Amino acid sequence: MSYKLFIPGPVAVLEKTLRAMAQPMIGHRSPEFVALYRSITPQLQAVFQTKDPVYLSTSSSWGVMEGSLRNVVKKKVLCCMNGAFSDKWLDVARRGGLAAGALPFDWGRPVDPVALRAALATGEYDAVTLIHNETSCGCMSDLPALMAVLRDFPDVISIVDTVSSCSALPIAKDALGIDVMITGSQKAFALPPGLSMFSVSKRALDRAATISSRGYYFDFLEFQQNHEGGMTPSTPVIPLIYALKSKLDDIAAEGLANRHARHARLNHMVRDWAFAKGFKLFPEERYGSVTLNCFANTLNVDLVALNNLLKNKHGLVIDGGYGKLKGKTFRISNMGDETDATIAALLQALDAALAELGVK
Ligand SMILES: *Cc1c(COP(=O)(O)O)cnc(C)c1O
Repeated sequence: MSYKLFIPGPVAVLEKTLRAMAQPMIGHRSPEFVALYRSITPQLQAVFQTKDPVYLSTSSSWGVMEGSLRNVVKKKVLCCMNGAFSDKWLDVARRGGLAAGALPFDWGRPVDPVALRAALATGEYDAVTLIHNETSCGCMSDLPALMAVLRDFPDVISIVDTVSSCSALPIAKDALGIDVMITGSQKAFALPPGLSMFSVSKRALDRAATISSRGYYFDFLEFQQNHEGGMTPSTPVIPLIYALKSKLDDIAAEGLANRHARHARLNHMVRDWAFAKGFKLFPEERYGSVTLNCFANTLNVDLVALNNLLKNKHGLVIDGGYGKLKGKTFRISNMGDETDATIAALLQALDAALAELGVK
């Protein structure tokens, strides 16, 4: 049975993108691969708004999120935590034997720049982890305000997860001073899972050079050295790189500004529908994500029954809440290639399914 995903990752992949993957293999040290890699770099740099290289890692985002810690943390990392993914990042740092401190906020609350400044002023930290868009609770922190704080602490390397936001709204890596910016294939880029794209500043590369326990697979210096030759350190997931190339061409054809406007428009279309039904956003409205909506289940809808109806009758799937928010919230993605028509069709199906459950 096939159905279309409206969960916040992995998201639906266009036929066109899937077809782009079905091409003959090329050697990853061949001139054809180098040409492909070198044609992708400037397109990714445009999306990341950076002059730094953007590397391709054959891993999900967590690979690079964990690897980044190993590359830049010498003293202690401060983990800003306001949801499931950012909470886990602290755990990941400690599992790797690194000194790590927590800057916790309630799920659904943004990371507070004032609290960040106070924590960094202790001088304890030489790195920070920060999630721009906490997908677990649909909360988007004010990245420009947080980066303004970080720019006052030049010895602190910023590792910023833009896994579910990169390409859906403008994030100016260089202008903001982000050292390590990480994203993944299966969220806003609407590719299948398995590829992570990340960009690293000169400062962060210099830090990595002073650390001997960087490992191999996620070693920034390996990525940089191979990047200079138009390659990746180990054999990459070539089909996904074909898909990425196809997607970057699509993004260029649509235009980044149009892409950003489309995400904002569709996000509000879903919000307006839910508000009219009587649902509320889980995070405070101005910190609501642009790529998904996490709604509080204020009408006490049986979310399992709702999703069963949606899936079996309409061939659509939304998310019934992440981790401790299961049943208490539901999440609807508008990432990737959604259009006014596909979102309208989803909302129509939701209306029908809710009516069947006795919700007007
Ligand atoms: C999905 C997600 C991750 C984890 O990505 P994987 O591809 O599962 O490694 C990390 N951070 C955020 C914000 C995410 O949405």
